[in-house]
This record gives sequence, C-alpha cells and structure tokens, in this order.
Amino acid sequence: MRKPVAIPQEKISKWHIIEINPTNQEAFKRAPKQQEALSLFNKFKAINKEQLKEYKISTATLKALCEKGLIEKRTSTASFSALVQASPILKEEPLTLNEEQNQALKSIIYNKFNTYLLDGVTGSGKTEVYLQAIHKVLAQNKQVLILVPEIGLTPQTVSRFKQRFNVPIATVHSNLSDKQRFNIWQSIRHDQYPIVIGTRSSIFSPLNNLGLIVVDEEHDTSYKQQEGVRYNARDIAVVRAHKLDIPLILGSATPALETLHNAIEARYQHLTLRKRATNQTLPTIKCVETAKHGLAEEAITAIRETIKKQQQVLVFINRRGFSPTLICQDCKWISQCDQCDNPMTLHKYQTNLSRKEYLHCHRCDHRTPTPKHCPNCHSSYLHALGTGTQREEQELEKLFCDTPILRIDRDSTTRKGSLDSMFKQINTGEPCIIIGTQMLAKGHHFANLGLGIILGLDQSFFSSDFRGPERMGQLLTQVSGRIGRENKGASNIAQVIIQTQFTDHPLLQQLLAQNYHSFARTLLSERQLTAMPPYEFITIIRCHAQSPAIAEQFLRQARRQAEDTIAPSPSLQYLGPIPAAIAKRNNRYHFLLQIKTSSRNQRQLLLQHLCRYLESSKQPHGLHWLVDVDPLEF
Ligand code: ADP
Ligand code: ZN
Ligand code: ZN
Repeated sequence: MRKPVAIPQEKISKWHIIEINPTNQEAFKRAPKQQEALSLFNKFKAINKEQLKEYKISTATLKALCEKGLIEKRTSTASFSALVQASPILKEEPLTLNEEQNQALKSIIYNKFNTYLLDGVTGSGKTEVYLQAIHKVLAQNKQVLILVPEIGLTPQTVSRFKQRFNVPIATVHSNLSDKQRFNIWQSIRHDQYPIVIGTRSSIFSPLNNLGLIVVDEEHDTSYKQQEGVRYNARDIAVVRAHKLDIPLILGSATPALETLHNAIEARYQHLTLRKRATNQTLPTIKCVETAKHGLAEEAITAIRETIKKQQQVLVFINRRGFSPTLICQDCKWISQCDQCDNPMTLHKYQTNLSRKEYLHCHRCDHRTPTPKHCPNCHSSYLHALGTGTQREEQELEKLFCDTPILRIDRDSTTRKGSLDSMFKQINTGEPCIIIGTQMLAKGHHFANLGLGIILGLDQSFFSSDFRGPERMGQLLTQVSGRIGRENKGASNIAQVIIQTQFTDHPLLQQLLAQNYHSFARTLLSERQLTAMPPYEFITIIRCHAQSPAIAEQFLRQARRQAEDTIAPSPSLQYLGPIPAAIAKRNNRYHFLLQIKTSSRNQRQLLLQHLCRYLESSKQPHGLHWLVDVDPLEF
C-alpha cells in the first residue's frame, strides 16, 4: 500500500450544498439573495472562501441557507487540493487516442449525472479512455472512484493508474485487515486520496468531493454481494452518481444484458469501441469435438506449434481440482458431501515435497480422505469422473515435458506471493502453458499469448440458471480476449480452440459467426418472450433452517401474507416455496419464494409490506431469512 506523501495539513472550509435541487421560486420570493446563492450552489456544489467574495455571498445569506438545511459547512485538511496542485497530475504522457476512443471521451459530460456504457471489444483501449476522463476530473480538483472486480487478480490494472498519475491512490479490497481498512477509510474521509480503486464494497467509500465513478468489467458477478446484506455495487453506483449529479462510466466488452437493455432503451449513453487499440485483429475461433480422453488431437498439435513459435498457450477450464466427482463403477455411488447436496471434488496433485489427495466440498469447505473402496458396496472400482485443472495439468505434463506449465486457480494461489511470481514468469514472455480457471478471464493483459484452448464449457448450455448462456458468452468472449493482444505480424494470427460436444449449438454458432452483441440481442429477445429480466423483475425471499419443514412453512406463511397484500395476476406471479438449487448446505435447508413482477413500483410496495410483516412476526428459533432483489443465483 503506497503511503500518501506528507503535506502540511492546513484546514480549509467550504460550504457544500446538501442536495441538488432546482431553486423553488415561491419559497424565495422574499429572499432573492438566498435564491441567487442557492443557484450558484446548484451549479458548483461547493463554494470556498474566495468564491464567496467573488460572488458577494454574505455571511447572513449562508446562515439562512444553513438553517433551512440546504447547505452545510465542511472542513477538511488542505491535503487533497494541495496534492493535486502541488505537482503535475500526470506522471507520463497520455497515449494519442484513436478516432473511436476520442469520440467516446468527447461524449462524456462532467459535472452532470449521466450513465455511459463504454462498450469496447477486449483490448480496444477502454482503460485509456478511463485514464483520460479521470485526468479531466482530477484537474477540476475532484476525486474519482474506480471499481474493479478483483484487485489481487489484476495488479496490472492498478499499476496502470499508478503509472499515469502523480497522486496518492488508495486500493481497497477484501484482503485488508480491519485495522488497515479502518485506516484507509479514515484517510479517504480526510481527503487524502484523489483516486480510490476498490472492489465491490468500496462503492461506499466516504469521498467528499467525488467527480466521477468508473465500474470496470461491469458485467462481473462479483459486484453482487451474495452473503449477508445483498446488494449490487454497479446498481449502487448508478444511485450514488445520480445523487451527486456526476457521470458514471460502466465499461465492458461483454455488457450484462440488463446494462445493454438500458443502453438500447437510451437510459444509458452507449459509447462503442469496435477495434483493438493496437490494431491487432481478434483471434480466430473454432470449435472441435470433445475427445474421449482429455485434449483433442487438433488442440495438441496447435499447442505444439505455438510453443515452437516461442509463444504462450492458455488452457482454460473453469473447474479446480482433479475431477469434480468420484463415482463407483459397480453401484454408481458418488462422493456426495454429507453436509450438503453437493458432490465432493477430488483433489490430487504433486508438490515438491509430497503427493496430496483428498475429497473437498467447495460449498462448505468440508474435507475427507479419498476412500480406497466404495463406502456403499466395497468395490475398488472408483472412477474420477470429469476433468478439473489438476487433471489437465497432469495430462499436459505428460505431453509437454520440456515446457513450463503454470496452474493458476484458487488452490495454487493461496500462498502469499505465489500469484505474483506466476505473473512475473508469464510476463517474461517465455513460452509456457498456463492452465487457469475464470481467475484468468478478468482483464489481464499478457503480451505473448498466441493460443487459447477452452474446455469444459458444455455444462453451461444446460444450466438451470436462466443466465447460463449469457455467462457462457461472456466467459468465452473474455477468455478469447486475452489471446493475441499484441501484434506478432500478419502471418501470425492468434487462435482460440473450443473443445465441445455441441459444435453445432445455435447460440455458440451465432457467437462465433457474429459477435457477442448479436448473441446478446438474441438472448434479450428470448428473455422478452419468456418474460424474464431485464423485462420483468425478480425478487427472492430466501430462508434457511435446521429442517426443510420449518423453512418451507415460513415461506408458505410469507406467500400467504404477500398474496393478501397484492393478489397474484399475470403481472405479479408467485413461485414457491421451493428448495434452492442446492437445498442442503452445511446441514441447513435452503428454500426460496420467488416473486416476479413487471412493475418496479409494485414490487417496492409489496416488499415494504412484506418485510414489515416478517420483521414483526415471531420466527422459529434458528431460522434466517432475507430478501434478494434481482438475484444472480437461485
Ligand atoms: P481494454 O481495457 O479495452 O481491454 P486496454 O486499455 O488494456 O484495453 O488496451 C489494450 C492495449 O492497447 C494496451 O496495451 C494499451 O496500452 C494499448 N492502447 C490503448 N489505447 C491506445 C492508443 N490510443 N494508442 C496505442 N495503444 C493503445
Ligand atoms: Zn459401489
Ligand atoms: Zn459440503
């Protein structure tokens, strides 16, 4: 964490408007001076001593507006403005924008609320647009808040901001201790940081003079908090920018359907970057049939050729561990977690010191030794079904024994510094094979990746989650976007190979033959036909208890109460109580009641009544419930 430079802490006071409001003519009939001053506050948001003199605003006027609760005096240390003004803001020259980037930057209006969707293909230079917009805001002496999905995974993004600007930058993420978090929070509150970069919860950072919010990779599901209080930082960003009357930039190569819908409906201004900034063409993508065991022949050949050309290969597989299930060949017993309705993943790998093998439930973290015999029929024919990163690593080690292989998943990066050292190795550009989960799909820029192999995509075609295909399209586009980002000559076009059982799947075909956007439009029209979000609004009342009966009973009562408030109709439908997709977790039973409406206002009304009722009625001991608005999981 970089410490802010020590600067004399002179106290400065400013008068701030509490809420932007068009001046009400009637209310100020007898107070023209106050009315005039208020309209200046509406324009500037905050006014300092020099401006008070310049515009001849008297102490009496200030006092009157203050008593009416319209403005307030805030004192802060001078550090922020001093920091920005003491030295040049820029540490390095900005790049010369290309036509599309320039157009996008020019469209952004500061000092006014608007949501911009910066929709640019991977590598189109969205970050450069953010950097230049941020510069404009810093030059006005205002602060910037940048949300990113995961800081630890994308140190490059943070370092680009640090390289560009001569101002202290706070990074706020989940790996901070409470004390560190408190200290950063305090420093932000005291205007020590012109720039704050952080993950989801930093949307609440106490910045006093915010001028711009950027949400990078806005489609990323990590912006939604799935535990405790449920909120979506992206949606809160919209509310916060609106309240402060400042611009918000949502950036992505694969916008969420909700966001795209808002852009199509012109609620957001749509800015597009269609070309890669380095003029490098996007990689060619093709599908090959899944092989019976492991990698297809074509994929193996392509890896060999890429290594021969001194380039790197990314093998993407979105499952950690050796194999997702252990199954008995004789009686079909599977390695189910005894605390959850969830198969336990087999982990099996070699470290320098030892061989490790165990079963692990990724839901509740429960671990057990791998059984030698089937616990059900004592057969010794136990079979590891399916492939995860560790198994892929073993296969590749056998095939390419002379090439370094780096596995990047949650298991291989728990040790502090291990991810950094792997990134360092990749950044040397030396040929290697990287096996990774979706940890690698997020905004990385590796210069020398010439080939991507995508495995294990098939389950998303049949996902019970209606967002399955959207996620699949985003993941595929983002992973492909990591490949061939720097020019290696026209004869050396980068390639992506998708290994799948469903090479003819119409959605996959559309994604490959056209692009993410036409694919997304198809999904949107399907959502409209089936009355699903973003056309209808879903809310889930979740609850969990020690027994299924208690959980179900609670939700049945909730439904009855809700129906009494607003009776079911085609525009307001109830579903449930039903068990959650994984009903038993950690020995508790999860149930849900789904409410689908076509009107936000109606939903608001219903939830107000329902929550009041549920909060005031006595619940069985040990039962927990919560409301999940616009849920991302079921
Ligand atoms: P994105 O954020 O859209 O994925 P980046 O901002 O990471 O794209 O840009 C991809 C690459 O293109 C980076 O190496 C960046 O330095 C380079 N780049 C961006 N804009 C320009 C530009 N106007 N001129 C030259 N290179 C650029
Ligand atoms: Zn058996
Ligand atoms: Zn479990």
